[in-house]
Parts: sequence; structure tokens; C-alpha cells
Amino acid sequence: MTKLEELIIHRIQETGPISIATYMQECLLHPSLGFYNQKDVLGPDGSFITSPEISQMFGEILGLCLAQYWIDLNRPDRFALVEFGPGKATLMLDILRAGSSVKGFIEAAEIFLVEASSKLRSEQKTKLSKFNVNWIDDDLLIPKIPTLFIANEFFDALPVNQYQRKNNLWYEIQVGLKNNQLTLGLSHRPTTHPELEGRFSESMNGDIVEISNDAIRISKSIGEIINNQGGCALIIDYGDWHSLGSTLQALKSHKSKNIFDKPGKVDLTCHVDFEALAKNSGCAYSRLTTQGVFLERLGISDRANQLLKNSKPKNHKSIISAHRRLTHPDEMGTLFKVLGLYARNESSPAGSVSYTHLRAHETRGNLVCRLLLE
Ligand code: SAH
Repeated sequence: MTKLEELIIHRIQETGPISIATYMQECLLHPSLGFYNQKDVLGPDGSFITSPEISQMFGEILGLCLAQYWIDLNRPDRFALVEFGPGKATLMLDILRAGSSVKGFIEAAEIFLVEASSKLRSEQKTKLSKFNVNWIDDDLLIPKIPTLFIANEFFDALPVNQYQRKNNLWYEIQVGLKNNQLTLGLSHRPTTHPELEGRFSESMNGDIVEISNDAIRISKSIGEIINNQGGCALIIDYGDWHSLGSTLQALKSHKSKNIFDKPGKVDLTCHVDFEALAKNSGCAYSRLTTQGVFLERLGISDRANQLLKNSKPKNHKSIISAHRRLTHPDEMGTLFKVLGLYARNESSPAGSVSYTHLRAHETRGNLVCRLLLE
């Protein structure tokens, strides 16, 4: 039994069952025993590997996409560049390196990182020591200037509450105890939530619905900033436009586990409900695009070819396999999706497609990245 499991069991014995959201929060972010405060959680030797850790191409393409948006905003001389959950800071470093090929972009950027893990904050500090970086909480206290947001595999880490429909009422699924072991059960009393009201028409008794209050709150803050100051957000994660059922899963060393297996040593994640993010943001949103298509539109194949041309033959295999991992439907190409948020009456970020200007944006995205990557 892990130390964290003992603490959680003790808490439930003292004050009763806890929500799945509280359980996730403790398991992921307990100040010393939580998953994101352990050693080496990300990367080939960790529990999971993310796109920026697979290849520099991912961050470079995203960096140029953001630089294009800055150009579209008429190159403001100050803007906030905000990353949620920057992990090992690899993505931010690649964004800044690629962005430095666009004159004035880096000079205008004020960098803000939203990171809850103190262990990862200090890793980010070391990695980004050449830059002036500010760490902030998710209340997003930043200057009132145009803002570009980026989040890769952040929203899937946010706690969710789960509700089950029974006799046409909603009951919360909670973590309680059976024979002093963690187990799932239903709340005794039915409950309500504004987001549950619209879910009756699409569900039947027995169905489970997930709601992330943190995701709703954060997307509202992002939307408010974008609508008032201008800017955009690129949100990349796995999930779907709309989710129904339980998507909570535990992962350790790239393998699936029981959610009660070694609390704090195992990653817990949920599929992202992109519709909830888009609609709660209150700003304009792009069509949900698969990661493979998004990166292709922005010229990742050109970038891969360019890297091949400039590298030694012994590195060719890894460049080709990284390109495949990021874009192929059998790998991360379709599982991961990209959502663009932007101010009403503005353009969607290059590579994403608005509901009205399909062809113009596909073409523009390609052009920008081809030119800038030369
Ligand atoms: N974006 C990185 C890391 C993804 S892992 C990459 O693509 O490699 C999730 C990241 O979000 C970690 O940095 C984790 O510590 C952070 N995180 C998780 N929950 C958070 C929360 N509630 N608030 C702030 N950061 C959080």
C-alpha cells in the first residue's frame, strides 16, 4: 500500500466517501506524494510519452502557428504566451526556438506557465533559464494584452466528477471503502449540476456522465481573455467532441492499470470533452481537427524532409518514425485532436479550420510554415 493510499483511506474513514475529482486531485497533485511530483513521470522512461518528447517537429510547427497568429494580430509589441501544464518545458523551448525565426515575435512575448507541480516547476526553471518566465496559477492573473495560449495533454489531467443516471435522477460516483479497501460506489442522495440538465435527452438509466469543473472554469477564463484582449488558444489532447460514459483510466509505464492501483505512482487521466471547452469559453471555436491532419496542414512533412536533408543517415530512421508517430492514424494522428479558440470575427489559428472559411485556412497554414521553415 502506498503512503498516499493510507492517507486517502484515513480521510475517508474520518469524513466519508470523496468524489472521483478529489481522488484524482490527491493522486496527481498531492504536494509530495502525487504523481506529478514524482521523479521522471514523462518521457520514454516515464509513465507516458507526449508529442513534444517524441520530436522537436511538434513544438516547431506549433511555434510557427502561434507566430502566424501574432502576425495576423498585426504584430503587437507586447503579448502574453501562456502554456498550461508545460511538463519538461520541451514544447515551450521548441516554440521559442522556431518562433525566433519570425522577427520581433520573441521580443514581444511575455511568457507565463501554469504549472501545479513544484517538481516540474523547478525542472522548467532550469530548462528555460535563458528566458524571462513567470509561473502563475490557473486564475490567469496576467497583464491585459493579446494572449496566445497553448495546452498539450493538460486538460486530460484535470479532475472530473462522474454521475450515474438511476431512476431518472443523477447520483455521484464516489470513492469509498469496502473492507478497508478503496472502492467505487454511488452517493446516497441524488444530486444536480447545471451541466447535467442537458444530458437527459442523450442518456439512459445506468449511463455515466463526466464533468470537469476545472476544465469549465479554465476555459471560461481563457475565453474571457481572448474575447477582451484578442488572441487564440490551441488545445491538443485525446478525447472527442462530446463524451458519454466513463473515460477515466490509469496508466503506468505505458500500460493500463486499475484506478486504485498504487495511488500517486500511477497516472490518472480522462478523455477531454472538447465541446464543453469550446462552448464554455464563450469565444469562437474551430472544427475539432485530428492532430495528424493539423500537423500536415502546417507542413510537418516538409519539416521532416528538411531535417532528413540536414542530418546524418544514422538519424534518418528516428526522424521518419517520429513523423509517423505524430501523424499516422494508427499512432497519435487520430487519437489526438486539436481545438482552436479565437475571438469572434477573427480568424481561426492556421492549421485549424473555422466553420465558415475552410479552404482559405488550409492553404494559409501550409504557406506560412513552409516559408518560415526554409
Ligand atoms: N504539456 C506537457 C506535459 C503534459 S503532462 C507535454 O506535452 O509534454 C500534464 C502537465 O500538466 C504536467 O506538467 C502537470 O504537472 C500539469 N498539471 C496537471 N494538472 C494541473 C493543474 N491542475 N494545474 C496546473 N498544472 C497541472
